[in-house]
Amino acid sequence: MEWPGLLPSSSAKTLPLLNKEIISCTACPRLVQWREEVAVTKRKAYEAEKYWGKPVPSFGSDKPKLMIIGLAPGAHGANRTGRIFTGDSSGDWLYGSLHRAGLATIPTSTSIKDGQQLIDTRIACAVRCAPPDNKPSIEERDTCAPYLTKEIEIASKTSTAYVALGSFAWNAMIKSLRELGHTIPTTKFSHGAKITFLDGSRTITLIGSYHPSQQNTFTGKLTKPMLDKIFKQAAKAAEIG
Ligand code: SF4
Repeated sequence: MEWPGLLPSSSAKTLPLLNKEIISCTACPRLVQWREEVAVTKRKAYEAEKYWGKPVPSFGSDKPKLMIIGLAPGAHGANRTGRIFTGDSSGDWLYGSLHRAGLATIPTSTSIKDGQQLIDTRIACAVRCAPPDNKPSIEERDTCAPYLTKEIEIASKTSTAYVALGSFAWNAMIKSLRELGHTIPTTKFSHGAKITFLDGSRTITLIGSYHPSQQNTFTGKLTKPMLDKIFKQAAKAAEIG
């Protein structure tokens, strides 16, 4: 099938410049339509708010030691607030855990004005626009992939640890690292899955975690101690704190 959108590419040399490119992307027609439609129709609880309604940039350190990779923005979370994992239940879980691991300055993430700062840590997503039902298509995943690859390429100058939230992010992270020339053994995603490889003289650690979606947290598939264990491990691998 011919892809109707304008395929993204990036010549950014820094993570802030990459964020600027991402924010203006319109490559995926279905996602552009959905992110903008949600921003107009809104959820009743947020009808007085102005939704972001654009691709959601990465958040955190511009020279991260630890990279966290999620799936995609939530329709009424990051697509509303403009900051990744901000303003929904997944974000409550994620930032709470990051705070307990010494990776975030406050335990909550409610808006871009809440003062939250990540410590040597950056959060990106495999797909930057909110998808219907939280499910990007294969074409959308592949269309957005150059941004993740570029982000990892720049971040890898300082990052020695990566956490992927869910199998979608796990596979996207490994694909990007392979495209950058790293030899990554094929390892099936699981909560706590771990891969290490050498980048020159540095040991790089990849860790898999269940995504803190309501589907996992409401059912008890993912608990706070399980998530905390992942981020304590990641902080240690990245030598933060
Ligand atoms: S998902 Fe990625 S490639 Fe598609 S429109 Fe959004 S930013 Fe662009």
